[in-house]
Amino acid sequence: MAEYTGALPTPTPETRPYWDALKEHRLLIQRCKECQRAYFYPRPFCPRCFSFNVEWFEASGRGKLYSFVINHRPAPGFGPEPYVIAVVELDEGPRMMTNLIDVEPDPDKISCDMPVRIVYEDVTTEITLPKFRPA
Ligand SMILES: [Zn+2]
Repeated sequence: MAEYTGALPTPTPETRPYWDALKEHRLLIQRCKECQRAYFYPRPFCPRCFSFNVEWFEASGRGKLYSFVINHRPAPGFGPEPYVIAVVELDEGPRMMTNLIDVEPDPDKISCDMPVRIVYEDVTTEITLPKFRPA
């Protein structure tokens, strides 16, 4: 693969299962075993009821576009401009900040609530980024 020069995340002990699953092209998120709510980003306790009784599970990778902005300003580690910064609401409930790709960065081509599905972008041998495209 071509050398990737963009910004890269640094996995932590709390997020390692998430990044490892992305490398295998699977989206793992967490769910609270007390109140049954799914949540994102990864953390060792439920953000709603604060229980530590939580588990990982594989999400469908499907959802809808909750919100977006088309960025035209250069930002080191991102781009090329323009590109779409998106918040996707997963079918399982949680929202993820991501990029919408494989669509023209044109407000006439993108609308909230449009169905989207995950695309796994292998940017290095260690990191795969979750992005989304129109479904
Ligand atoms: Zn809970």
